[in-house]
Amino acid sequence: MKLVNLIAQVDRGKCVGCKTCEKVCPVLAIKVVDGKAEVDVDRCRGCAACEQRCPVYAISMQKRDNPLLVSVDIASVNYDEILKLCSNALLHPEQVVCYCTGTRAEEIAAAILKGAKSPEDISFMTGARTGCKVECIQPILRLLEAAGVKSTPPQGGWQWYGRTVTVWEIPKKVREKHSSRGFYFDEDEKLLDRVRTAPLQGRGVK
Ligand code: SF4
Ligand code: SF4
Repeated sequence: MKLVNLIAQVDRGKCVGCKTCEKVCPVLAIKVVDGKAEVDVDRCRGCAACEQRCPVYAISMQKRDNPLLVSVDIASVNYDEILKLCSNALLHPEQVVCYCTGTRAEEIAAAILKGAKSPEDISFMTGARTGCKVECIQPILRLLEAAGVKSTPPQGGWQWYGRTVTVWEIPKKVREKHSSRGFYFDEDEKLLDRVRTAPLQGRGVK
């Protein structure tokens, strides 16, 4: 969930049409048309990535007259399906996966069950991944993968790359090789198993 109270605004006089903003937008809300960047006001989630990276300072963040609340209501989806998806992705449903917006795995799972097919769809529907844009990409990719959704990064985009390995996937051979060098794979796995299997506290409790 995110309350979007900012929107990107382009100074067309300064824009040189370099497309950097297009490449960094996590929801594909800005596009260069006829050499100038244009913002889709309904899609923009106010993350300021474009503003921070525009090489000629052509973008500024403005207050929205009417802030948008973006979220997916987990009650609108069968919670058993959310549980299944989170379990397959080795995540606790109530685990916060986007620290910037406080979005939990259950809301991301609900977005996928309601049709999200990519990290960009998820960001558009939930507002997740519109803060730092770094921490939440891996759990988002894991949830998409667990749902059998194959998504590829937008062409030419700089928003996300491949999925990285999780502690559960590290082969025994690698664990053994590095066990004496200060890596604690087995302990990490036990700790993360405790997190992902902890009892539910909120709406999913029956
Ligand atoms: S990054 Fe700046 S200069 Fe480049 S297209 Fe976007 S608004 Fe224009
Ligand atoms: S979502 Fe972020 S990167 Fe995309 S147009 Fe809005 S402020 Fe710029």
